[in-house]
Amino acid sequence: MSGQALDLQAGLAERLGLVKDRIAAAARAAARDVADVTLVAVSKTHDATAISTAIAAGQRVFGENRVQEAQGKYPALKAAYPDLVLHLIGPLQTNKVKEAVALFDVIETVDRPKLAEALAREMERTGRRPRCFIQVNTGEEAQKAGVLPAATDAFVAECRDRWRLPVVGLMCIPPFDQEPSPHFALLREIARRHGLAELSMGMSADYEIAIRLGATHVRVGTAIFGERPRPPSA
Ligand SMILES: *Cc1c(COP(=O)(O)O)cnc(C)c1O
Repeated sequence: MSGQALDLQAGLAERLGLVKDRIAAAARAAARDVADVTLVAVSKTHDATAISTAIAAGQRVFGENRVQEAQGKYPALKAAYPDLVLHLIGPLQTNKVKEAVALFDVIETVDRPKLAEALAREMERTGRRPRCFIQVNTGEEAQKAGVLPAATDAFVAECRDRWRLPVVGLMCIPPFDQEPSPHFALLREIARRHGLAELSMGMSADYEIAIRLGATHVRVGTAIFGERPRPPSA
């Protein structure tokens, strides 16, 4: 192994350990069982070498935001590590539903009737049933994916009753420029109304706050893998 690869390995394992320690401390401070908080390591833009390093350090749950990128990295890793759990955390187009259902174990971004229907039909066709989270646009941002809070009750009911999707929880991405707590609290309240046990909320900057407010899944990228390369500006 090259010196550079060894550095990557040591640095990544150390950062992963630090994040896990902080998750455990946040859970303890909230009088919660650390086993009820799943760390989803967000590996988007990072290559299979970095992901393998995280796997070697014991990480098994990963998140990707693009179906195509995940298809390039994960089939081989999933074959080698059958206990890997892969979450889709980015917007899903209906023309990618087939690939998404085949590859992902959890789809966190169900947010509109057409997508719910397409997922239901593909699950019916294949018998594969990735667990689903409904993404809620808690900040009501025009450019952001997710169902609006006021429409969430009806959409949850439609996903469950009409499409029989395996809905396990809710997910949100608060506006970047706002204090996240009210968004996390709102998500928790909507989930409680529906008896949904899982809450995917919190990223590198705010996962400890999210754990305090009930997150069962935190999606952490930068704090584990380091800064992502910026896309070249157009
Ligand atoms: C990229 C991404 C994350 C991880 O963000 P970091 O700030 O790097 O931890 C979490 N959730 C979603 C939906 C993302 O796209």
